[in-house]
Amino acid sequence: MKKKKPVYEGKMRLKKGDEIIVLSGKDRGKRGTIRQTLPEAGKVIMDGINIVTRHRKPRATGQRGMVKQQLGEMHIPMGLLVSKVMLICPKCNKEARLSSVRAEDGSIARKCCKCGALVDS
Ligand SMILES: [Zn+2]
Repeated sequence: MKKKKPVYEGKMRLKKGDEIIVLSGKDRGKRGTIRQTLPEAGKVIMDGINIVTRHRKPRATGQRGMVKQQLGEMHIPMGLLVSKVMLICPKCNKEARLSSVRAEDGSIARKCCKCGALVDS
């Protein structure tokens, strides 16, 4: 059975290396840098945020009561939905909405709606 992944249909305006702020959830107000973007899921992975820890306990297996040691913790970054984070404009240092503009060389650049500075440079 294959699980169908939910596909994010919005636009991914955030990039790896962007500084973002978390808008909701238990990590609200925290700032960090995007380590990875997951455009298909509409998520970003940020250092130290929304990491789920899975514990593994030693289990007794087998008839002789042998204990298989599978101790340890697994840290799995779950990512954050892009709608729950906002970019921090490097120019005005505020949470910034972005608009897309076409740069002179024809590429798409991102512009801060507050101060009008181009975020990519
Ligand atoms: Zn700005």
